Parts: sequence; structure tokens; C-alpha cells
Amino acid sequence: MIIVTKHGVTQEELDHIRERVESFGLRTHVVVGEHRTVIACVGDEERLQNIPLRSIPGVEAVQPVMRPYKLASRDFSAEPSRIPLGSAEIGGSELVVIAGPCSVEGKDMLESTAKEIRAHGARALRGGAFKPRSSPYSFQGLGEEGLKILAEVRAETGLPIVTEVMDTRQVELVASYADMLQIGARNMQNFNLLLEVGRIRRPVLLKRGMSATVEDLLLAAEYVMSQGNPNVVLCERGIRTFGKATRNTFDLAAIPVLKKETHLPVVADPSHAGGKRDLVAPLAYAAVAAGADGLMIEVHPKPETATSDGDQSLTFSGFADLMESLKPFVTAAGRTMGA
Ligand code: PEP
Ligand code: MN
Repeated sequence: MIIVTKHGVTQEELDHIRERVESFGLRTHVVVGEHRTVIACVGDEERLQNIPLRSIPGVEAVQPVMRPYKLASRDFSAEPSRIPLGSAEIGGSELVVIAGPCSVEGKDMLESTAKEIRAHGARALRGGAFKPRSSPYSFQGLGEEGLKILAEVRAETGLPIVTEVMDTRQVELVASYADMLQIGARNMQNFNLLLEVGRIRRPVLLKRGMSATVEDLLLAAEYVMSQGNPNVVLCERGIRTFGKATRNTFDLAAIPVLKKETHLPVVADPSHAGGKRDLVAPLAYAAVAAGADGLMIEVHPKPETATSDGDQSLTFSGFADLMESLKPFVTAAGRTMGA
């Protein structure tokens, strides 16, 4: 950690800063520059993490050298992590596509969607049984009935299922059906929920909060990992900005930033990012080019009747077209795709 002192810092102030830091077992080295004096602190930086160093007289700024997240950091594991999902692995050379409706609405629609997406190379089926809706009057999902339908369709198609868990009280129930637990954007900083899914060893798909920084997202992953669950996949799904042209603002740059900062795989969700059907393909191409390990795409047999997110859901033929047109981007990114 580097402590930058104020212009004109006195010898007493310098001595006091050093005493404070050294009282936590670190060593200090004072570097007197032409304009500023800085104090390099050597030792276990973590001991200073919760100390309000900026309030010590004479301190201008504090620059940590270590990342605040440990288990999620590249320093912890230089090799990229591969997270199992059914017979696929997210984080390897294959671009893994997860697709399906926003909400599970019934058996027939889920079954036909699953068969269709599987035929075009998707490796997992998504579908919400518990839905986080902005309005309490909107469709809230089928609940356990939806989970049962997901499990039936998995049994028929072999596709693993990804579904959202919204509450600590539902974790065991949802985990007893799901292959991967989705934590939605609105719950990215529900720390009790993160701890709970950390205790269960099911892989977790952690979606970026609407106002979360990349660091916030990685610290949320750290919560899960701190409980012993290393199987976390991060998802960039757009953040809220002042722009109104799209549902959210797709933070494309977050993908290569995350790939550098963490060994965890990163998938992109162009459906929620753009919020419109015709934006899904261009955003998906961009995500693949930027290094995404997977895509999550909303698909519905009849989007105009969807109970949620119909405007951004691809039709079956739209999904087939996307999977075909993605191929050159996947090849250019040095990856393969499901057959
Ligand atoms: C979803 O995947 O349908 C969803 C609700 O996503 P998000 O949490 O990113 O809004
Ligand atoms: Mn949705």
C-alpha cells in the first residue's frame, strides 16, 4: 500500500502516520520526492483494509497495491476456471450458449423451446420460475410448478437447466431442481443470498447489478467463493445509464476487463442489455469478439404472447439465424460452438 501525504506534511505528521501503520505489523519506507512525500507500507495489506487511513492528519490519498477480492482474482489462479454445466464447460474453448424463455409459462412452450434451441447448438436451457419483476402486479413466475416443468424438460431433452433463485428461503428448493443457480441483477448485492448459494455447491450464474461496478461484481463473486463454492460464472447484462435508446447500456469493455481481472468465466446477455429483438445479434457478435465465454439468449415460441420480456425474445427462426450468423465471429475469436 502506498500512502501519499499532503503537500507540506510535517515531520510529526509523518511520524504519526508511520506509527499507526507499524502498529498493525507492517513496515514503512518514506520516499521524499521533489513535490510529495510518499510512504510505502510493506507487509500484510489486509490488516489495513478497514482502517480509516485517509482521516490521519497529513494523508492525502491511499493506494492499495492488492486487489480487494482474492479468490476471484487472477493472482489466485492464473489459469482460467472451467465451470461444468451438464456435459458442457463454461470457460474452455467452446462458446457455450444458454437459451430459453424469460419465464417458464407451461410445459408445451418450454419443451418446444428446448428442442429447438438444442437443435441449433444451445447447451443449456434457461427459464425463470421465480421472477424478479419491477411491478408487484406483473407475472411473478410459476414457482415450484415452474421448477418441476424445467426438470421434466431436462429429463426429455438432456439439457441442463439454469434458473433464478431470489431468496435465501428458496435456495434449497431451487438447487434441488437446477443445474445452475442464477442470481439476478437486482440481487447481485443481496449478501445473505450470495452466502447461501456459496454454501451449496451448485454452479452459480451471477448477473451484474444495474448500478454495479466491475469491482462490485467481483466482490459479489468473492462472497459466493468465500463460502467454499468456486463455481461462479459472471454475466454482463448491461447497466443503467442516462441513455434511453436501449433497455440498459451494454458494457462491452467490462468483458475484456473481467477476463484480465479474474479467472472466472464471463458470459454476456445481449437480450437484457439491448431489450429489443433486433439488437440481440449485433450485441452477441460484439460480446464474442470481446472474449465472452458464453451467451445467454431469451427465446420464445411466440414472443407476442410472452408473460415477460417478449420484446427482446427471439423467435425460433430468429434463434436459428443467430446461431448460424455467429459462426464466423466464434471462429475469429478462436473458439468452437456446440454442434
Ligand atoms: C432474466 O434473466 O430474465 C433476468 C430477470 O435478468 P436480470 O436479472 O439481468 O434483469
Ligand atoms: Mn428476462
